[in-house]
Amino acid sequence: MPESRAVSSRVERILRCHAFLRCPLCRGALAPTGQSLRCDAGHNWDIAARGYVNFVNRRSGGAPYDADSFAHRRRFMQAGYYRHIEEALLHALAQAAPGPVVDAGCGEGWFAHRMVAAGAQVMALDYAKEAVQRAAGLNRSVCWLVGDIANLPLRDQCAGAVVNAFAPANYAEFARVLRPGGLLVKVIPGEGHLQELRRAARGQLREEAYSAQPVMEHFARHFGDVTRCTARTTLPLTPEALDDLLRMTPLLFGADREQIDRAGLTQITIEAEVLTGHHHSI
Ligand SMILES: [Zn+2]
Repeated sequence: MPESRAVSSRVERILRCHAFLRCPLCRGALAPTGQSLRCDAGHNWDIAARGYVNFVNRRSGGAPYDADSFAHRRRFMQAGYYRHIEEALLHALAQAAPGPVVDAGCGEGWFAHRMVAAGAQVMALDYAKEAVQRAAGLNRSVCWLVGDIANLPLRDQCAGAVVNAFAPANYAEFARVLRPGGLLVKVIPGEGHLQELRRAARGQLREEAYSAQPVMEHFARHFGDVTRCTARTTLPLTPEALDDLLRMTPLLFGADREQIDRAGLTQITIEAEVLTGHHHSI
């Protein structure tokens, strides 16, 4: 496809989901004008040629950008180490209400990519522009958004499901954008997640154990009954995958990777808790 047509088709995809979006400044509806979205108050949000809308008025948002860690994470995902978690997530989404799925805190976009491949209509958002730029190159069918999870640029009750995987939550915003009966799926690391790596890096980690309990309690306070499903597998680590893992995981940010006993790391446990609950409007 010629580049200009590829660009316009990406813009068209954003325009097709504009009815679900709202202006994060005045909360007004957005209408397409050329290659941007505009509200009645005149706030203008450009659709980037790469196929996303930037709703954050700053050059770079969020945590310090680490391009290297995104690239390693992408490769680790492509190698299939998270496939069982993808499957658990897709299984959970079978309970979604009609309407698009919002991936809130999509990072570099792997899960949104997999949800689209399974047939979902997905709007995916992250505060880090660089992560969304990278995500937009992965899948052109997702409506990619740079935005604040505490002020989602989405209309009330527009979504059939919200997915919040390995990212901070904002339950009030999730409840606002979900339709009555809509589904929240939250994915958090399980207690055995990366246990071999945590053993090998013992003494260097600030937080050495995961616990799902506080997250589950917080979830339940906002969404009532929570269903919990553990997705766990242990896979052999190739030297390439080990290198990707050591460079992608936030667990090791600030740790001295040279001090880790690599020889003992021949396999890795990837474990997540998939928490689901339904939004019941009051
Ligand atoms: Zn506005």
